[in-house]
Amino acid sequence: MTLTAAAALVLCQPQAARADKFQACVQGLWPSAKAAGVKRETFDRATQGLTHNPKVIEQATFQPEYKRPVGEYIDRAVSDKRLETGKQMLADNKELLDKLEAKYGVDRHVLVAVWGMESNYGTQPGDMNVIQSLATLICSGTKSKFARPQFVSALKILQRGDINYDAMNGSWAGAMGHTQFIPTTYSAYAVDHDGDGKRDIWGNVPDALASTASYLKVSNWQPGAAWGYEVRVPKGFNAKGVSEKKLRSLAEWQKAGFVRVDGKPYPRPGDKAGLFAPEGNNGPAFLVLNNFRSILRYNQSNSYALAVGHLSDRLRGGGPFVQAWPTDENRLSLDQRKELQQLLVVRGLLEGEPDGVIGPMTLEAVKTYQRNKNLPVDGYPTLTILKALRAEG
Ligand code: CA
Repeated sequence: MTLTAAAALVLCQPQAARADKFQACVQGLWPSAKAAGVKRETFDRATQGLTHNPKVIEQATFQPEYKRPVGEYIDRAVSDKRLETGKQMLADNKELLDKLEAKYGVDRHVLVAVWGMESNYGTQPGDMNVIQSLATLICSGTKSKFARPQFVSALKILQRGDINYDAMNGSWAGAMGHTQFIPTTYSAYAVDHDGDGKRDIWGNVPDALASTASYLKVSNWQPGAAWGYEVRVPKGFNAKGVSEKKLRSLAEWQKAGFVRVDGKPYPRPGDKAGLFAPEGNNGPAFLVLNNFRSILRYNQSNSYALAVGHLSDRLRGGGPFVQAWPTDENRLSLDQRKELQQLLVVRGLLEGEPDGVIGPMTLEAVKTYQRNKNLPVDGYPTLTILKALRAEG
């Protein structure tokens, strides 16, 4: 053995010990899998040689540097590109969507909007092996309570033969395929629309869109009803902090002065709605209905549900929101972001060619700068920071 090989072996030992520990943890999951009806053969095939995936932990524990304002989130979620692709998808899948609307009662524009939001129409379904991701979460103690039932459920999906091990990919959290179903959601709601015996949300668009429709249907979707309306808040009403969970009929809202921005009447005045005004009186306000709450079953985020609702309206031919989101005067333009990066490069805080894209390196450089100057450290590149850098010359 050469000296370098011996050194490499020594270096590898802690890694080998970690791998053994990981395997021991994974094998410790057998009793709960067995109790749920997983066969030994399925378990062994899925867990043999399974290793810890550090990328999973990295993403599971990622904390965004700053909370993106709702308006910015919506602008990105309902981009021109996503709208354009969505219209193409509506045309390409017309016959399928006819059938799904008839069978499940869920509007085609909503189905396509969810598809666009979840996986960008199947182009970003996640490429991490689901068994590995879930085992990594469980054995590292990160979101392990969430991951345990998902792991067992994922094994049962493999056992049933809906998908094979190598193709069972998804996000770090095990959200899979076009629909981004986690294994327990998949097990409960995925459907085999094309009738080949497999519920294929990874590679089969009819199965995927039918699964979304099936899930929304059981989430109490009301056929023919809207998700909500953009409304004007009456003068003198303080919308800040009002809970969208406080429900009144649309007729009552109307009486209180909450009218649609287009001036049209509410088609179903008896329906119960809540007021969702994420920026209080400084941005668009919405009366949200039962179907908004069904979308929340898919993903528990008001911004997400608003994006799906709005994208579906836009796909149907509706326009952008009438009321403007508040603009952050401290936000940088593309040229200003490049200038900021250049100034950070000059100071040796950042490397590379300025491109105006604020990634982890730029955020880290801004943080270092803030730390050096005894400023609040949030990494958020603002006009204030840019002006301070310019003033230094
Ligand atoms: Ca199928």
